[in-house]
Amino acid sequence: MKILVANAGSSSLKYQLIDMDNEQVIAKGLCDKIGLSGSNISHKAGDGRTYAAEIDMPTHAEAFEALMFALTESDAKVISSPKEIGAIGHRVVHGGTFFNKSCLIDDAVAEKINELKELAPLHNYPNYLGIVACTKTFGKDIPQVAVFDTAFHQTMPEKAYIFGIPYEYFEKYAVRRYGAHGTSHKYVAERCAELLGKDKSEVKIVTCHIGNGASITAVDKGECVDTSMGFTPLDGFIMGTRSGGIDPSALTYIAEKENISAAEMSNILNKKSGLLGISGVSSDNRDVSAAAQNGNHRAALANEIQRYQIAKFVGSYIAAMNGTDAIVFTAGIGENDPVLRTEVCKHFEYMGVKIDEEKNHIRGEEVEISTPDSKVKVYIIPTNEELAIAKDTLALVTGK
Ligand code: AMP
Repeated sequence: MKILVANAGSSSLKYQLIDMDNEQVIAKGLCDKIGLSGSNISHKAGDGRTYAAEIDMPTHAEAFEALMFALTESDAKVISSPKEIGAIGHRVVHGGTFFNKSCLIDDAVAEKINELKELAPLHNYPNYLGIVACTKTFGKDIPQVAVFDTAFHQTMPEKAYIFGIPYEYFEKYAVRRYGAHGTSHKYVAERCAELLGKDKSEVKIVTCHIGNGASITAVDKGECVDTSMGFTPLDGFIMGTRSGGIDPSALTYIAEKENISAAEMSNILNKKSGLLGISGVSSDNRDVSAAAQNGNHRAALANEIQRYQIAKFVGSYIAAMNGTDAIVFTAGIGENDPVLRTEVCKHFEYMGVKIDEEKNHIRGEEVEISTPDSKVKVYIIPTNEELAIAKDTLALVTGK
């Protein structure tokens, strides 16, 4: 079956058409600058043919029309009719406490996703608009599935998701830890169990999704028991531009000193902090590491803080699960930065973690980087969120 995976953002629509018989990407593309001037589509077929055009896309509806044209009529077309698409899987950022797994989309589900925009205004509303526009373009005959970034984390126990603030805020506003990157953590944890040659119900795994946004999850018996992102994807440890966890009193103190509003503070914590804020150089790990190598102290400090904070989360999740069988690194930095992996794993030499430095220098490939006698296996497992969405979609529409 061919499955279309759609990821609608506020001004973009990323998509992949995947043949689930062999899990190959038939085509992928991006509609960019939706609602802005210069909106355009870039599309690439699996055989290398490309199609690109500037098209007026005031809303997601025109973006889905452009996507349909690219797939079925452009110079890089890959199917002759939308009827060849068996199902469509949508990435949805927030499922609240309502969605603990992927589900088929009907009017009620779409409306619930819209309601949940309160919890993730920048993401859920575009996700909802994407679903509405997709239905308009492809009709109701092709089943659509919602795959939620938060769903995998819904198995967390209360002790992991309730914050230490008056309980009424949880009751009144559903303020709690939800986590994010769930599709990625689930995918690499399941893949890791396969590599360990065990059923997922038999293993404990710490999954480290370290990209521009970054989070770590404790996966016990195939279920998330704790995760570093919180009410929003700001919590945890430092990321490209996000602060991660911080003493809340530091924020109220700075806000008073500089007369900063809540919205401005949120902007500082989300867009001006992390690697960028500490280094003053860039939010991009490669730029920061290069500056560090050229002797920039703040850049070196930013790298060091990120690695140290990651190690602390990994350590705390090993404690939470009373041990671990494996540690997994994934996403842009996790898959490509051998120094980060070495520095993080050094903190676990005490429990018998040993890295094979030769294997550790392999980039972006699925590989075990621990030595044969390491007490805990360490892996690089490239994440593939699109394939994970397509797999859930296939399972729901075929009932398997
Ligand atoms: P992502 O958000 O998963 O796309 O990851 C983006 C981050 O991965 C950026 O900070 C990049 O600098 C980092 N990254 C990508 N490739 C490499 C590489 N070869 N070495 C180190 N960092 C990398």
